[in-house]
Amino acid sequence: MNVPAHRSVRIPRLLRMVQGAQAAADALAELMGEARTCLVVHSGPRSTTGYGRSFASEARGAGLEVHELAVQGNSEGSVGTVMGSIEALRPDVVVGVGGGRVVDVAKLAAAKRSVDFVSVPTQASSDGICSPVAVIFDADGRPSSLGARMPAGIVVDMEILRSAPAETWRSGLGDLVSNLSAVRDWRLAHRTEGEPIDDFACLTAEAAAGSMIQETADIGDRDFQEQLIRGLILSGIAMEMSGSSRPASGSEHLISHALDRLLDVPRHHGLQVALATIAAFLLRDEPCDDLVRFYRAAGLPVTPQDLDISTDEFMAAVAQGRSTRPGRWTVLDVMGEVDLQRLRALYDRGGDGRWAQRGSAPDGGEVAPDVSSQPFDVGTELSLESPP
Ligand SMILES: [Zn+2]
Repeated sequence: MNVPAHRSVRIPRLLRMVQGAQAAADALAELMGEARTCLVVHSGPRSTTGYGRSFASEARGAGLEVHELAVQGNSEGSVGTVMGSIEALRPDVVVGVGGGRVVDVAKLAAAKRSVDFVSVPTQASSDGICSPVAVIFDADGRPSSLGARMPAGIVVDMEILRSAPAETWRSGLGDLVSNLSAVRDWRLAHRTEGEPIDDFACLTAEAAAGSMIQETADIGDRDFQEQLIRGLILSGIAMEMSGSSRPASGSEHLISHALDRLLDVPRHHGLQVALATIAAFLLRDEPCDDLVRFYRAAGLPVTPQDLDISTDEFMAAVAQGRSTRPGRWTVLDVMGEVDLQRLRALYDRGGDGRWAQRGSAPDGGEVAPDVSSQPFDVGTELSLESPP
């Protein structure tokens, strides 16, 4: 054998689902052990719940030396601000408390300064809560997915997550379910382009998403919510396994990136990728009746109209999806004018009459070349290739 028989994957040391800020701070103190100093990054006065400050106060109560830093948005400037604080304060741990933006900023800054990071999400809106990827906006307002590090720990306060709007849960569900499309695009790229594929990353990403597909899905149900959190975390671990966002980001994410550019007010990331997931299934000519039934039960968008997006706007995004990330090969690279017309006609009819139509079942089980797990290159834009 000329390759190592096994590989190691970096996963967080601690995962806690707790109730309330005090229990969350206690979990952080437990993870930190002898270490005392932490930098808690939150959104400060912009936060409607004030949770970051409550968490910081509880962390002091738990005996930690806590520094607080408020950041605005997920810009390169915010990342620089957090890196500056890390250099000045030399904390043992950086804690990102907030929605996806704050978590991403703190995650990337900690990775760039090689400090452990703990994720304390206040929304379940995306798979960024426990992934080695950070989405950061450059000076032109263009978002980039940048390589970061897996968190050393993740503490989920279900109480604060449940106080967030239902749309945030639906967005998280959409982001997770989109793995089903991303993995199918990867297999397609493997079969037709010979792109290396990571079987275990596919297995993890797909199993995490598949476990949510239930006709009785209830986004307000506590068990369903906890299952969703676990699924989002597994999705992040799949990305860490493959050293790429590939198992969780295919054509549906490219279409969503194009929507981000085209729409005056982009919708929630996870809702856009959920919508584009159905389009991607149709473009790959795969059956999606079960998926659509599940979408209806869970309140996910099936047609552009469900998100108040016009057919024209959505079809423009499908056409432009490829250009948002050259090099990530997906079904968008092989679709033709006929496919686009078929999709447009379906949406013009409001989606009726298509869901029972037959498509060819995706095939899965080829033996793929080994892809070794490699750490992400911190701060570099993610590309199709496995990192060096
Ligand atoms: Zn996503």
